Amino acid sequence: MKYADLHVHTFYSDSTFSPEEVVSLAKDMALAAIAICDHDCTDGIDPAKEAGEKIGVEVIPSIELTVEKPDTEVHILGYFIDWKDKSFQDKLKEVRLFRIERIYKMVEKLKAVNIDIDPNEVFKLASKGAVGRPHLARVMVKAGKVKDMRQAFEKYIGFSGPCYVPKLKLSSKDAMDMVLKAGGVPVLAHSSLMRKDEYIPKLVSYGLKGIEVYHTEHNASAVRRYEAMAKEYGLVMTGGSDCHGMNKGRALIGTVRVPYDMVDALRKESERIRLEYR
Ligand code: AMP
Ligand code: FE
Ligand code: FE
Ligand code: ZN
Repeated sequence: MKYADLHVHTFYSDSTFSPEEVVSLAKDMALAAIAICDHDCTDGIDPAKEAGEKIGVEVIPSIELTVEKPDTEVHILGYFIDWKDKSFQDKLKEVRLFRIERIYKMVEKLKAVNIDIDPNEVFKLASKGAVGRPHLARVMVKAGKVKDMRQAFEKYIGFSGPCYVPKLKLSSKDAMDMVLKAGGVPVLAHSSLMRKDEYIPKLVSYGLKGIEVYHTEHNASAVRRYEAMAKEYGLVMTGGSDCHGMNKGRALIGTVRVPYDMVDALRKESERIRLEYR
């Protein structure tokens, strides 16, 4: 049996691992394939592919986009994207520039509650790609302002925290179109973290093609629920660990894995999408 972990980050977004480290860990876990799904950045794909070709790990070019709603966040994964597509890259660049502005704004808000953070420290940590709250949280820990990353999110920069600032407003439809036009398969990430299953039919009407059924944060009842929804809406099922390196305490890569058949199903769906949407 061949297996794949279809949700892995690198330090081009908010993991502590390089693409080469991720590929080598995938090999250790006997994975045949991994999907590099960085937030708003594809720079990890080429180096991962190169490393993967050397040691025999297939790298699926992917992305993770965020849609912010007043009450929750929706994460859309895109599998088998044409990551070199110019308009796709232009849009990603805009999203990443907004992320930089947002760090300055969050630093201002932290200052108002007497937490002094040097924004350049945050950018230094994220020098390689999309800067985000995990980088800010790490600097807050390092500066001794909070005891760990979890506390940074709980007290200050979490979705409902006093120092939270939203990202660029991508609508669900925008995110779906971005992925489809780049030839990728749009899949709803870690559905249960969204806590709004009622959004799923709408997402399907915008072109959602798959749902991440198996995920580190999904318990058995969530898995059953999303398996049923996948059947009901004719969605491809996927799964992955959502490994963020040591940012989540330990390396999760390979702890959630799916049969390689799912990779073939995604590849086929991407080929179909390329005929229909481009
Ligand atoms: P951002 O894209 O900058 O809004 O950061 C979102 C990322 O922060 C997520 O992908 C997670 O990796 C991380 N994150 C979100 N909420 C928490 C939390 N409560 N504790 C730890 N990490 C979190
Ligand atoms: Fe993340
Ligand atoms: Fe996510
Ligand atoms: Zn992720």
